[in-house]
Amino acid sequence: MTTDRPADSAGFATRAIHAGQAPDPTTGAVVPPIYATSTYAQDGVGGLRNGYEYSRSGNPTRTALEECLASLEGGSHGFAFASGLAAEDTVLRALCRSGDHLVVPHDAYGGTFRLFDRVHAQWGITATPVDLTDLAAVEAAIQPGKTTMLWLETPTNPLLAIADIAALAELAGWHGITTVVDNTFASPYLQQPLALGADVVVHSTTKYCGGHSDVVGGAVVVGDAELADKVRFHQNAMGAVAGPFDAWLVLRGLKTLALRMERHSDNAEAIARFLAEHPSVSETIYPGLTSHSGHDVARRQMRRFGGMVSFRVAAGEQAAVELCARTKVFTLGESLGGVESLIEHPGRMTHASVAGTALEVPADLVRLSVGIEEVNDLLEDLDQALGTTGSVR
Ligand SMILES: *Cc1c(COP(=O)(O)O)cnc(C)c1O
Repeated sequence: MTTDRPADSAGFATRAIHAGQAPDPTTGAVVPPIYATSTYAQDGVGGLRNGYEYSRSGNPTRTALEECLASLEGGSHGFAFASGLAAEDTVLRALCRSGDHLVVPHDAYGGTFRLFDRVHAQWGITATPVDLTDLAAVEAAIQPGKTTMLWLETPTNPLLAIADIAALAELAGWHGITTVVDNTFASPYLQQPLALGADVVVHSTTKYCGGHSDVVGGAVVVGDAELADKVRFHQNAMGAVAGPFDAWLVLRGLKTLALRMERHSDNAEAIARFLAEHPSVSETIYPGLTSHSGHDVARRQMRRFGGMVSFRVAAGEQAAVELCARTKVFTLGESLGGVESLIEHPGRMTHASVAGTALEVPADLVRLSVGIEEVNDLLEDLDQALGTTGSVR
């Protein structure tokens, strides 16, 4: 299978459609086939065709996705996994050892924090949650000789805090620390951490990369052959790979990523402006609002501000919970990044596992994953759902 990449100078939308996806040489199929095969015929012992031996080690559909992801993140190598957490776990086991210390976001994705706190902690890897918007606090948390990794997530989930990737990667560089960025919320269309100095990018491709809420997947992209060797070895040795059908779904999603992110951003901007004016909302959190403390950094490092909007309901927790059940176009559910709009109550849903820890979120917080529907329908839906919150006690 030919996996020619378009020139790195080609535009993002062009690479999203063509990188790793040259027409199939056998048939001319313009879409990479789903290679539903576990093994490959060899031309004599060890005579592998294009290096394919066994599908845990490599599968052509997965290769197409991995090359596309590498191109979109401006990296040299991409790796596709069965989930975002599988990707993260592989990075941690590939790059960290017992005794290592990590500096991590104090408002990381709940499952990421649980991976540090409940899984890797058992193997002697410790993590200190820090407010990444406070550079001095990050520096203070670094333990010389012990801290080996700085883990960033920006924008964060669900509080949409913005970490300055370039500044933090530079700080990590001074200390010889590897910088990993969870780029799930921005997607490679809005933000490219490797170009800002990060070493490793991870994604839950379940979210914007896949974009249609029909697949669970993860990715790692690096810009350096030595890191790539470590990740490749662990991807194969641990085995949490993306299957060919899942890889194909993510690849199909990536083709429209640029269009989708523009529309997600258009809709989210309109909704953030609407919520910011609404009397039932005490605070609207969106990096695109000039009132957001990370707005200037976000403008520097992101193309636009994405589709996630969080807000606090003035009437409190119960009103926030009830609001989530009243929307009709926004579906009440976890996850994010799909074409359909979702609403959720982080305190009781996605972030229930971090209650009582440093990552606890406000009880009156509501999180929106703004989809790509007609914006007027979304605004009307929120308007009717918010209409009565003032009277809810
Ligand atoms: C969903 C998510 C993950 C975990 O990914 P899965 O695909 O669910 O394993 C990690 N980080 C962020 C920011 C996420 O939103």
